[in-house]
Amino acid sequence: MSTKLIFDAAKCVRSHSKMSRCRLCEHATDKRVYIEDQLPVFTKGTGVEGAAAVGACPVEAFSLSDFSATEFFFSFLESPVRLVSSKLNVPCLSVLSVEHLIALTLASEEPITLDIAAYDPGTNLYEVIVSRIEEANFVLESISHKRLQINDTPSDLSKEEADEKNDVSERRAFLRKSASLEGIAAHKRTFDEAVESDELFESRLDTETIARIKQKQIPDKRKILFSVLKHTPKPETYEVLAEEDISFVSQKYVDENCTNCQICYRICPTGALSSDAKFSLISFDAMLCVKCRLCHDVCEPDALHLQPGFETKEFFEPTHRTLATFTIKRCHECGNPFTYFEGEIVCPRCKIEEEEALFLHQNAKKMRGEIK
Ligand code: SF4
Ligand code: SF4
Ligand code: SF4
Repeated sequence: MSTKLIFDAAKCVRSHSKMSRCRLCEHATDKRVYIEDQLPVFTKGTGVEGAAAVGACPVEAFSLSDFSATEFFFSFLESPVRLVSSKLNVPCLSVLSVEHLIALTLASEEPITLDIAAYDPGTNLYEVIVSRIEEANFVLESISHKRLQINDTPSDLSKEEADEKNDVSERRAFLRKSASLEGIAAHKRTFDEAVESDELFESRLDTETIARIKQKQIPDKRKILFSVLKHTPKPETYEVLAEEDISFVSQKYVDENCTNCQICYRICPTGALSSDAKFSLISFDAMLCVKCRLCHDVCEPDALHLQPGFETKEFFEPTHRTLATFTIKRCHECGNPFTYFEGEIVCPRCKIEEEEALFLHQNAKKMRGEIK
C-alpha cells in the first residue's frame, strides 16, 4: 500500500477558531496542501510529497499512513545506525520537526547525520529541511555541545530509489496501454483509482470531531522533547534566544488592554494557557506552548504578546508563570461573577442593558414631546 497523507481536522487550530491564521502546512509544502474555506485541502492521492506538512504542523494534525515519527524516534535510537535518510529509514526528512531533530541529537550518544544529498538545493523542500536543521543546531548550540551533521554527497542507488524507478516505469506502461481502446477497457479500474486520487480530501467538522476539538492535547513531539531534556545535563549558563529564531516554543506577556474575555486560555489547544476556577488569572507554561499563535489570533484587544527573547532556562527548569491577575466580583444587578476593573460593581452585560433601557426611555420622552 502506498503512503497517504492523513489530516485530523480536530487537531488543526483552524478548526478551533475562524480567527486562526495558521498556514504553516501550506508554506512547508509549497501549496501542495493549501488553505481553502478555513481548513487545509489536498488531493486524495497526496502521499510522501505532503510530508513537510507533518513536520511543520505545531499540533500534529498531519501524519503519514505508514510512518510514525514517534515510533521512528525510539526504533532509531535502539538501532546502531546514525544516518537519517529517505533511502533508509524515513519517507522524507521533512516529516521530522525541529523538536524531533533536537530530541534525537540530545538522546543519541553518537552524532547523527542527516542525508540531504537526495534533495535539490533549488527547491522549497530543500529550504524547509535545511532551515529546520539550522534551527535545531542553533538551539542545540545554546544548550549542549552536540550538533546535527549533514551529508550532501550523493551515494549509490538504494533499494528505495530502485522501487521509485519501477513505479515510474509502471505508470508509463499504464499510460501507454491506456492510449488504445482495448487498453482503456483493460485498465478501467486502475484509471478510476487514478482519477479518484486527484479528488480533493474534504475534512468535515462532524459532532465527533467537534467533541475532540475541546480536548487539550500535548503533541507527542513535545512529550518526547520534554522527556529527553529531563535527562540532558543542564548547561553551565542559560541563554536568551531571539523570538523570531525559534519556531516551536514561546514566552509571552499580557498587557493592560486585556479584558479577561477568557478566550485565549479556553481555546489554547495544549493547555499552555490556563486559568483558575474563578477565572481570576492567566497562567502560562512555556514548555506546553507549541507557538501555534491561536491565542494571539483570537485576542481582540491584541493584549497578548510574544516576549522578544526565549530563555533556554525554560527547557531545563520549566515554570508556570502568572501573566495577569483580575479582581472577580459579583454584579450588584444580576449577581453573576465578572471581572471588575473600576467604577460601579455592575457587569458589562447589565451595563449594556441599563444603557439600552435608558436610550428607550429617552426616546419615549422625545416622542411624547417631553424633551427635545
Ligand atoms: S494547525 Fe497544522 S494543519 Fe492546521 S493550518 Fe496550522 S499547520 Fe496546517
Ligand atoms: S489576553 Fe486577550 S484573549 Fe486573553 S483574556 Fe485577555 S483579552 Fe481575552
Ligand atoms: S499558548 Fe498560544 S501559541 Fe502557545 S499553544 Fe497555546 S494557543 Fe498556541
